[in-house]
Amino acid sequence: MIYMQISKKLRALGRDAEASLKNVFCEIDSVAFQNTERVLDVFREERVSEAMFAGSTGYGYGDSGRDAIDRIAAKVFGGEAGFMRPAIICGTHALTVGLFGLLRPGDTLLSATGAPYDTLGDVIGTTGKEGDGSLADFGVSYEEVPLKDGTVDLPALKAAIDKCRYTLKVVFIQRSKGYLNRKTLTVDEIGEIARLAKEWAGRDIYVVVDNCYGEFTEAKEPASVGADLIIGSLIKNPGGGMADIGGYIVGSPRAVELCGYRLSSPGIGIEAGASLGQNRNMLRGLFLAPHVVAEALKTAHFAAYVFDSLGYRVSPGAFDRRSDIIQTVSLGTPEGLVGFCRGIQSASPVDSYVSPEPWAMPGYADPVVMAAGAFVGGSSIELSADGPLRPPYTAFLQGGLTFEAGKLGILAAAECCEAAKG
Ligand SMILES: *Cc1c(COP(=O)(O)O)cnc(C)c1O
Repeated sequence: MIYMQISKKLRALGRDAEASLKNVFCEIDSVAFQNTERVLDVFREERVSEAMFAGSTGYGYGDSGRDAIDRIAAKVFGGEAGFMRPAIICGTHALTVGLFGLLRPGDTLLSATGAPYDTLGDVIGTTGKEGDGSLADFGVSYEEVPLKDGTVDLPALKAAIDKCRYTLKVVFIQRSKGYLNRKTLTVDEIGEIARLAKEWAGRDIYVVVDNCYGEFTEAKEPASVGADLIIGSLIKNPGGGMADIGGYIVGSPRAVELCGYRLSSPGIGIEAGASLGQNRNMLRGLFLAPHVVAEALKTAHFAAYVFDSLGYRVSPGAFDRRSDIIQTVSLGTPEGLVGFCRGIQSASPVDSYVSPEPWAMPGYADPVVMAAGAFVGGSSIELSADGPLRPPYTAFLQGGLTFEAGKLGILAAAECCEAAKG
């Protein structure tokens, strides 16, 4: 039995963590309640019915479920328009559709949050091979404003906007810290950056938010505070652990229309596209997502408390408020990091018997170790962890479909790390 294999000391620490985090958990429950109410209200308004689960094939004309899901995604995330589709294969794909949808030759893309998520380098053209079809290949310029003290450098953003004022089309904001050691932006902070960027630009620009890992951690989303597009993946938060695949784009009508033309083709946009039996999973996932995100948040707070008590550096702190589901734990040694991932893996519902090994992943400078025992391949709303083997040997932990399983995973990870200490 997993729990009984954990030392008495760690089990006591786990009980202490839960008792100490009681008020934090109450606040998380309150956000989950508000988000669940919003989702339910929209489902009622859109008259979600069993007929919508039938799905479609081929062109998918007349797929009322697909069209309802598009409207539901828009309303739930505070935009005027949007789409949520199984045709989007991951977050990077959704972001690619968003950026290529809006940007034209001669335009400038400006990142306000430093270098974007790793996989976007090849999309923008700052990494990857010339000629592969990046934005740079199509004559789109790219500028970025490095973070200062871990957050957006507003004076530098103003200067950068001044510099490219006449070609600026998109200001890009990444909500979550991703694989960086920085603070995650809150929805209100994003709203303020969006407002200032538009004011400083003095003409029509689009503010695009990479919303990955942020959905439902607060009671509102960036599309309701001035973002023109928010973009994310359904095998993270908003899929609620139920979606088998998919992504979403929500925002203002013209921006979403342009992205629809990029998703399929100009003229067709989001009017077509078979849902291939995914409507039920997407709706069920969206319904569950506020609660599942709350479970993942509790797991993150619990991990912060336990590992902080054991003397490891954690970020955010156990009592810090969050705007994404990512928790970092710096294990200090390669053995500690590998042990952490092995512990998480050993308490997973799928592939619990495999032992993660560090491997040289293409595109990464150092070997990477990962724990992923998920029902959906690569899903990171399910409990998962990974990290590069370099000092300070930081594990990036996220997910947890249920707090009960999350707690067991964290305690198993702590047990492995303590053993690795010798
Ligand atoms: C996960 C993630 C992405 C990319 O999503 P994939 O589904 O892995 O392609 C982009 N940005 C952020 C901040 C992410 O967390």
